[in-house]
Amino acid sequence: MLRLLSDRGICDERVLSAMLRVERHLFVPIPLRNHSYDDAALPIGEGQTISQPFTVAIMTEALHLKEGDKVLEIGTGSGYQTAVLAAMGMRVFTIERIPSLLRSAKQVLDGMNVRYVSKSSDGTIGWREFAPFDGIVVTAGGPEIPKSLVEQLRVGGRLVVPVGSLDFQQLKIVTKTSENNDYAVEDKSDFKFVPLIGRDGWPESDG
Ligand code: SAM
Repeated sequence: MLRLLSDRGICDERVLSAMLRVERHLFVPIPLRNHSYDDAALPIGEGQTISQPFTVAIMTEALHLKEGDKVLEIGTGSGYQTAVLAAMGMRVFTIERIPSLLRSAKQVLDGMNVRYVSKSSDGTIGWREFAPFDGIVVTAGGPEIPKSLVEQLRVGGRLVVPVGSLDFQQLKIVTKTSENNDYAVEDKSDFKFVPLIGRDGWPESDG
């Protein structure tokens, strides 16, 4: 898996080393465990997925974080990216909107003695109590850059968020440039994420 990540352009040694240390199979449902080290997203229940390793790597690398930085993750899912960020020495705050997924993720993370702070709620509004963050990573795709998340970044901090339609999104790397919430945006290539559902995301569907 690591060779594949470096072949695809991931060069931050700290990201590669964290992904080498965090055992992805612990976050994958038992029937799918022999696919744990494929470069693929896998279902984790509730219509959600554990992200593809390349996606976790590119998003984590794009945050440009250093040890001790405070990072907010929106979309805990399986907990895998939470564990990767913690293995890099970040102080991790993570929000998941589906309570049963957060419960399962916590079981795995706590079993591995990972340090993090979590809650179940709508992450598009952020977590003002712990702001400002050095980095924010959104692991689901929304229709626009969530305004509250820009407000909760420190100046110079980065927000990595997939934005686009429900069918595909571009990874936006947003760098906050002023206390007035001005920002610069860099676009990475197209991805397909599960929908970001919430106040500054997509509405919840009835089906
Ligand atoms: N990083 C996760 C992993 O490695 O397993 C990725 C999980 S999945 C691709 C994205 C997650 O975002 C899903 O679990 C979904 O329920 C969650 N999600 C969607 N909208 C959300 C919101 N507004 N707030 C918090 N979580 C949300």
